[in-house]
Amino acid sequence: MDTEPGVLVIDDELGIRVGCQRALQNQGYRVETAASGEEGLQKLQSDSYDLVLLDVMMPGISGLDVLDRISQLDPSLVCVVITGYATVELAVQAIKRGAYDFITKPFDADTLILTVEQGLEKRQLSKQAQRMAELEAEAEDLARQKKELERLDKIKSTFTLMVAHELRAPVAAIQSYLRLILDGYIPPEKQHEYLAKAERRALAQLELVNDLLDLARLQDPDVKTKTEPLQFDQVLEEIMDSMAGHAAEKDIHVEHAVESGLPAVDMTPQHARQLWTNLISNAVKYTPDGGRVTVSLSEQNGSLVGTVADTGIGIAENEIGLVFEEFYRSKAAKALTRMGTGLGLSIVKRIVETYHGTIRAESKVGQGTCFTFTLPVDRPSAPRQ
Ligand code: ADP
Repeated sequence: MDTEPGVLVIDDELGIRVGCQRALQNQGYRVETAASGEEGLQKLQSDSYDLVLLDVMMPGISGLDVLDRISQLDPSLVCVVITGYATVELAVQAIKRGAYDFITKPFDADTLILTVEQGLEKRQLSKQAQRMAELEAEAEDLARQKKELERLDKIKSTFTLMVAHELRAPVAAIQSYLRLILDGYIPPEKQHEYLAKAERRALAQLELVNDLLDLARLQDPDVKTKTEPLQFDQVLEEIMDSMAGHAAEKDIHVEHAVESGLPAVDMTPQHARQLWTNLISNAVKYTPDGGRVTVSLSEQNGSLVGTVADTGIGIAENEIGLVFEEFYRSKAAKALTRMGTGLGLSIVKRIVETYHGTIRAESKVGQGTCFTFTLPVDRPSAPRQ
């Protein structure tokens, strides 16, 4: 790589070219010459220079046009124009069009060297200013990235704390039931009852661990699940059948309306089942005995649109934005049942987003809730992982 500054002399007069080259080479510059504007522009495209000495009065392409082309090629390149006697007007025009300085023929070597030195100094300064601006932009970018990493790190720590907290409760309960039995505080006829309680807590913990694993898989970009063309309405039928028993226990009437001839969607079957299961089981869980759950599926504007509505406890206005967050359980939900991980809706939201869809909830306390989700039928690309 050349370390000495590069100067290109563009002049149709051989004497000027040779004279400039000799004087500047003696100063340690790398100097090349061109006898016309066209040749000069070619050289500028194939090699890099720091300064151009340009005669503005040449046959062929005009010096001012060459100047314009130079500033398009490299705006930071310093141009010094060479003007003839009594062509000050041209020099002024050249300066207006971006030339740094001008030098009038005839000139001596000292004037030439001084002008070139000043031009190169200016070039050096503007390069430094540009580098400073780039460094500042890089520093700002790094500061932004650092802030984002700190934010993500905080979310991760909070999540880990919440997981630990949620996992500790059932283990502590199971441990204390077992300790009571082992220490002989529970008479044999009551031991079965305590073991059954311990098993219930173990099952709840298993459910939590399974939900956490599902969520982690959905959030891991390296985990790719296999999709296939699915009749989403058939998956719904299957889930409705599996929910019927539980709904009947609570005397909840579950009905569904499905548009006929719905197109297939490319999806992982397990995701489709989880989506329906979580929404419908929530509707049944949060609806008092004797209530109603209504499910619908249709196609609108190129998307499948699913709704799950119930006549249940509802969600307070200030809590509706929080129910898709991990571990969030509303006050009313906690009061109604201890069963729940607070992860079901996070999983649903993640599944819907994986397939470029959306989900929202509308609710009125004491009257019921309706979840509406969309799933584009023709996605632009594979699932978003
Ligand atoms: P959970 O295991 O608690 O049901 P989810 O993530 O499935 O967790 O739901 C989060 C919270 O959203 C619930 O705890 C409840 O407060 C609220 N929620 C979800 N579905 C309903 C519904 N159909 N009716 C009323 N509240 C609901």
